[in-house]
Amino acid sequence: MQNIIIFLHLTVALIVPEIMKKRKILPVIGLTLLGITVLIGCQPKRVSSEEPDFSLVPKAQATPVKSENTEPITIAAVGDIMLGSTSIDETFLPPEDGRDMLKEFTPILSSADIAFGNLEGPMLEGGKNEKCPPESTRCFAFRMPTRYGKHLKEAGFDVLSLANNHTGDFGDEGRLSTRKVLDEAGIKHAGSDRARYSTTYLETKGKKIAFVGFAHNNIVPNVNDLTAARQFVAQAGKNADIVVVSFHGGAEGEKAQNVQWQTETLGTEKRGNLPLFARTVIDAGADLILGHGPHVLRGMEIYKDRLIVYSMGNFATYGMFNLKGAQGLNAVFEMQIAADGKFLNGKIHPGRQEGRGIPVPDKTSAAIRKIRFLSQTDFPATAPKIADDGTITAKENAKIESQKKAKSQKRKRF
Ligand SMILES: [Zn+2]
Repeated sequence: MQNIIIFLHLTVALIVPEIMKKRKILPVIGLTLLGITVLIGCQPKRVSSEEPDFSLVPKAQATPVKSENTEPITIAAVGDIMLGSTSIDETFLPPEDGRDMLKEFTPILSSADIAFGNLEGPMLEGGKNEKCPPESTRCFAFRMPTRYGKHLKEAGFDVLSLANNHTGDFGDEGRLSTRKVLDEAGIKHAGSDRARYSTTYLETKGKKIAFVGFAHNNIVPNVNDLTAARQFVAQAGKNADIVVVSFHGGAEGEKAQNVQWQTETLGTEKRGNLPLFARTVIDAGADLILGHGPHVLRGMEIYKDRLIVYSMGNFATYGMFNLKGAQGLNAVFEMQIAADGKFLNGKIHPGRQEGRGIPVPDKTSAAIRKIRFLSQTDFPATAPKIADDGTITAKENAKIESQKKAKSQKRKRF
């Protein structure tokens, strides 16, 4: 592994100065660089040994709203978002300064009661790149312009996870700036750093919804610490009607599309035993699990009537990601959650990233077929039913529906 990383570092060291000089990326070199970028960009970091202090976990402002409202809540969710980076130079920013970059999916995101995504990088101007050595040309850190906060707001995002391996690319200054940008835009965030930023609360249809942001690196809470995970979720459950857990975890890339029933690793880094983690947090009171991190779509399953989405893939990752094959597929997951937290039904809106990373709907529906195949392969007994049009139904509900249909057809015949 060490040798591979050294080799990749050398390759990038050779490629990057050429790019900086010519500003022309030959397709082959470009793809090689993009692949390596993600590999190196997501390099392992130390897992924090800091003991979480639960007294710091934010409390909801008021007691849970115990309203009689039993209307379902619609949550739309996407995976990794990195709208373009100034960390090398401005050529890594999207056309029109990103103005229309998210417009194709804005109607779906805006119409949901809550729209969620994983913001894979800090938003700041200036600052100090804390990831890469000063004269390094072989290491990548992401830095989105602060003015892009409004693109996220205009696209309809209500809450973002900052628990991932890029939020800290520009250290504490980057984390602070990102929180400020999102606070000013009116977008909630979970998991940017220590326990006090782990959890955030939103209110919709008279219900209080908690979002807890987990990651595999030095973020608190951590997917590898199941004892603390239980406590974070239980704490959130005391303050909210519905608890959503977001996690950044799992190995990365084309070969990491299947969920492993053991701790996944990348290099020396532990990236979580995700089925065990998901079940543990549901047992502790979580109602919906939204995974991201592998840069590819993964399967889904239902456990105790709660939906687990293991990876939502890259959603809008501009200029610095490998978008080849499975890594270019994306989707918006639209889910109806009952007032008691049970999964009712949902819809996969299939998409892909075009060019250097603009999300667009995909008429071929490749993402739907991919998610269905992976769900059935990895979770034969617990996968939800996924129809050709992307409709997601819990298998039990699907059975009831088909019984109803059969009954009414029988009636018609008489
Ligand atoms: Zn990542």
